[in-house]
Amino acid sequence: MHGITTIRYLTTASFGFGAAGLLADVLSECGVNRPLVVTDPGVRATGLADRVIEPLSGSAPTWFDGTPTNPTEAAVIEAVEIYAAAGCDGVVAIGGGSSIDLAKGVALMVTHPGSLLDYAYVNGGVDRITTAVAPTVAIPTTAGTGSEVGRAAMINVGGRKLDFLSPHLFPSRALCDPELTLGLPPYLTAATGMDALTHCIETYLSPLVNPPAEAIGLDGVERAAGAIEEATRDGRSRPARWNMMMASMEGALTFQKGLGAVHAMAHPLGALDDLSLHHGTLNAVLLPAALRFNKPAASAKYERLRQAAGLDSGVDLADWISELNVRLGLPSGLAAMGVSRETLPRVAKAAAQDPAAETNARPVTEADYEQMLRASLGVASS
Ligand SMILES: [Zn+2]
Repeated sequence: MHGITTIRYLTTASFGFGAAGLLADVLSECGVNRPLVVTDPGVRATGLADRVIEPLSGSAPTWFDGTPTNPTEAAVIEAVEIYAAAGCDGVVAIGGGSSIDLAKGVALMVTHPGSLLDYAYVNGGVDRITTAVAPTVAIPTTAGTGSEVGRAAMINVGGRKLDFLSPHLFPSRALCDPELTLGLPPYLTAATGMDALTHCIETYLSPLVNPPAEAIGLDGVERAAGAIEEATRDGRSRPARWNMMMASMEGALTFQKGLGAVHAMAHPLGALDDLSLHHGTLNAVLLPAALRFNKPAASAKYERLRQAAGLDSGVDLADWISELNVRLGLPSGLAAMGVSRETLPRVAKAAAQDPAAETNARPVTEADYEQMLRASLGVASS
């Protein structure tokens, strides 16, 4: 009834309150003696990254704490130089998806010749990325991208947000410690949490065959839908933080099945240099229009999504997300985030070429993307 499908779950993750305390053991298991610690200025300023690194004995750690909101090739090059100068032999990423993705770029470029562009998915990079990738330990401080268990990195190269995909880009180990998210501010909790929820929903709707991934996606929807408001309202709620971090990891475990229109649009919007828009916030704002567009292609799956989210069978999923966004204090639309109507045709064109577009629940044209983007502008500008 189906063709042959590839199903792979690879990263070893240690999950639970206190998991970050395993770092020293995990580094020695991975044979890393001099790690480069990759983080961003915000996480460094809170003292969180230093606290995680503190128990490591031996020489002072080498830091790259300049990860931008959306990782760039320039930042990869800078971090690679620091890695080489200090004689590092592995990477520890502490932060959100940006720091983890940047760390993957560094682990790739310290072990592979040429330039980053040679390894982009669009340039056939999948076949050029080898097992030589330096060992990486990923420690997320947000519950959203799940990049700690993902095989992808998104890095901005020359104004384009490019995908780097390889089974060798899975971090060697992930330490998922919800303790590190207890202090995450409400807005970031909501925005990153909506990224996790979007991963679970979009992947579940992807037409590829992968029942285990669908089961994981539905479990992630249940956890995220049940915990995102509490985690946003009461950041110290340990059960809510645990469930959001699990939903985040599940989102990334499942999205090997492919994402869809939401991510196809969020990627080029996130690459608009002048705006530096947050990926999770973009997904939250774009999700209702994509759910309306995909509805005719997936009615049975929509019913299962409603069940997983604890909604009555009559509830419209797109309306549910729009109302959830309001309750979470997220922007009302792209216009409120500073996106102008004039940029939409350009974004629609890039969305149609994005790898995530290939696995949307129903085929999407450039015109469809433009219509969804216009619908996502929000009341302020229509
Ligand atoms: Zn995402």
